[in-house]
Amino acid sequence: MGNDGGSIPDRRDLVKSKPKAEQADKANQVRARWGFCALSKKPLQEPVVSCALGRLYNKDAIIEFLLDRNVYGDGDDICGHVKSLKDVKTLTLTPNPVKASSSDDVDIPPAAFVCPLTMKEMNGAVPFLYITTCGCVFSQAGLKAVLGPSPPAKADGQEPGTREKDLCPQCTKKFDRVEDLCTINPGPEEEEIMMEKLAAARASKAKSGKKRKAAVAEIFDTKDKKRERVVAPSTNPSIAASSRIVVEGLAEEEKKRLAHMSDAVKSLYQGKSTKADSNWISRGTFTRVRVIPLSLSSC
Ligand SMILES: [Zn+2]
Repeated sequence: MGNDGGSIPDRRDLVKSKPKAEQADKANQVRARWGFCALSKKPLQEPVVSCALGRLYNKDAIIEFLLDRNVYGDGDDICGHVKSLKDVKTLTLTPNPVKASSSDDVDIPPAAFVCPLTMKEMNGAVPFLYITTCGCVFSQAGLKAVLGPSPPAKADGQEPGTREKDLCPQCTKKFDRVEDLCTINPGPEEEEIMMEKLAAARASKAKSGKKRKAAVAEIFDTKDKKRERVVAPSTNPSIAASSRIVVEGLAEEEKKRLAHMSDAVKSLYQGKSTKADSNWISRGTFTRVRVIPLSLSSC
């Protein structure tokens, strides 16, 4: 029993509690990631949305965040990459039938949602994913089992567009099993890959977006009134302030994104920006004339 001179506590006795505490902490984190909104920290409640990084949010929290990016202190750290509702997908979740009948005073409450194919709980024990085209959520193993192995026609060399599409087992909408799946709450390594993918997608999008914006400005060049509407800052102070917040948010986000980016992606960005700058400064009448019909045809 100790204290009688007969037992001397060794290192194992003294440090035994530490891993246990760490374990409990980790379990709490997992429970928080899978059962609570990453932004508001409130229990997940439908409608639930997910971003390109597979984080789970209550849709109302994301809407609040988009209206005022400072409403949650650490909002920009968690979902700074969410710029509009287009950047999240509303999920089709399957409520856990066990949840309704269980009382709230259990130590570990059952997960709120399950995989409709395997009935496995969505609690972080097994990997889950959602289809980005329709938003249906499945356990990875369940979806894999239902889809079966990739047909031989889907050889690696094929272009994504030409690949045969699969049908969602829940809503039967078509999706691409390589392009259109997003892991929910991925591990750190997978999350990094997803971040780079997002950055690459944003880079190519921004490129065309900038071109489009530049072209729009050129079109309104001679029509001062309309140009003012496009370029000049708003005279309404509240709109001006909110757009300034958006611009500041974007700059901050860009800084963060560059900091997290791999060298390869970074070089892509830097290459793009210098190119864009030189284009902007050295853009002559000839380019201007050339840009307009191109953009009109693309609209
Ligand atoms: Zn579906």
